[in-house]
Amino acid sequence: MNNGFDARKYSELAQSHYKKHQQLVNKLRKKKLRKLDELVQQWDAELFEEINCLDCANCCRSLGPRVTETDIKRISKHLKLSTTVFIDQYLRIDEDNDYVFQAMPCPFLLDDNYCVIYEKRPKACRDYPHTHQPGFQKKLKLSLKNTITCPVVYTVFQKLNDSFS
Ligand code: SF4
Ligand code: SF4
Repeated sequence: MNNGFDARKYSELAQSHYKKHQQLVNKLRKKKLRKLDELVQQWDAELFEEINCLDCANCCRSLGPRVTETDIKRISKHLKLSTTVFIDQYLRIDEDNDYVFQAMPCPFLLDDNYCVIYEKRPKACRDYPHTHQPGFQKKLKLSLKNTITCPVVYTVFQKLNDSFS
């Protein structure tokens, strides 16, 4: 089902390179990098051609996306549930006072890594792993954490390291 793709291998690599990537973050934060977004977005597009999220689903297994009020209304309508029932069945409040799923792996993740509510999924799921969005330099610390979860982000950091070390 996952075509031999091993997300855990990437996670182990990211952990072994974490210190090096942390030093890179400290360096990049101080630089003026006007072309950084362009570069990262180009790598993001290339890497998502090679890495298929349906072979991975590591974020859906391990990270708990924030579920906003807007997400709740959209998803519960799609599931034909009242927002109260949806919240009771699927959500809890976390330490930041945000709604998140009660447990991970995500309750909407199927065995074949498809998402039951893909078209209606939370905005946080759409935005992840942020390498396609502007403002990458401001998200360096968050992205460093994401190297452990996402093979694409890990590889972006390896490329950044090759380019800026
Ligand atoms: S809602 Fe869908 S995309 Fe978001 S974590 Fe769950 S399975 Fe993944
Ligand atoms: S976004 Fe990253 S962690 Fe999530 S499924 Fe795709 S490659 Fe895996």
